[in-house]
Amino acid sequence: MAAGLEDLFGREHPEGPDEAKGELRRALVVAAHPDDADFGAAGTAALLAQAGWEVRYLVVTDGSKGSDDPAFTPEQLVTTREQEQRDAAAILGVADVRYLGFTDGELTASRDVLEAVTRQVREFRPFAVYTHDPEPVIIRNAFVNHSDHRVTGLMTVDAVYPTARDRLNFPQHIEEGLEPHKVRELYLWGANETNFEVDISAVIETKMRALVAHPSQFGEDPEFLDQMRTFWRDEQGRYVEAFRRIVMFR
Ligand SMILES: [Zn+2]
Repeated sequence: MAAGLEDLFGREHPEGPDEAKGELRRALVVAAHPDDADFGAAGTAALLAQAGWEVRYLVVTDGSKGSDDPAFTPEQLVTTREQEQRDAAAILGVADVRYLGFTDGELTASRDVLEAVTRQVREFRPFAVYTHDPEPVIIRNAFVNHSDHRVTGLMTVDAVYPTARDRLNFPQHIEEGLEPHKVRELYLWGANETNFEVDISAVIETKMRALVAHPSQFGEDPEFLDQMRTFWRDEQGRYVEAFRRIVMFR
C-alpha cells in the first residue's frame, strides 16, 4: 500500500500537477450530503490545503432529510446544514463549498445530475477528485451505503470519465465558454478494497473539529468523539483515511 500523501507530490506516476501543462493544484471533493466530505476526506483536504492546494467541496443534495428532530422543518435543515458545512470547510482550509441542491434521499442517476457535476468539474478543473465509492451496497459487512452516496459516486465517476473530458458531451458547456477537462486522479472513500492511505495523524483533531461543526448531526459527547476517532486509527496507532485510488491515463 502506498505510503501517504507525499505520493501526490512526486514519487508516483503521474507526479502531481504539471504546471507547465496548465495542470492546477486543485482538488474537488464531491459528497452526497453536508458532513459526508468531512467523514470521507477532511484530513486529506486539510493536508492538501496546508500544502497550498485549492480544495473545493461540492455537495450534491440539500440535506433536507437529515434529522429526526421534529423541531426542524426541511427548509430549516437545508440552511442550517449549508452553514454547518461552510463552518467545517473553514476549519479545514477548504476554499469554497458549492451546492447542487438535489432533494436529499431522492437522488437518482440522471442526465440532470451528471450535467450538474460535469459542469462543476469543467469549471473548477481539478487535478484530483474525491468522492464516495459508488460500488458497494454494503460496506465491510457493517454499513449500508446510502443510496444518495452510491448515486453521487457514480455520477462523479461518470463525470470524470468520459463526460467532462469529451467536448461532444453537454456541448452547451463548450458553447458557454467552458473547456473539456481531464481529471488525473480519482480517490474513492467508503470502498471495500482500498489501495491508498493518507496518514492524517497530524490533522486528526482538525478533522474532529470539522465533524463537530455539524451540531445538527452530532453532539460533542466525549465518548462518541472517542468512538469516531477510533474509526480512523490503524493498528500502529496512526490515523488514516483510506481510499481506492485510480490514476487516469494521460
Ligand atoms: Zn451522507
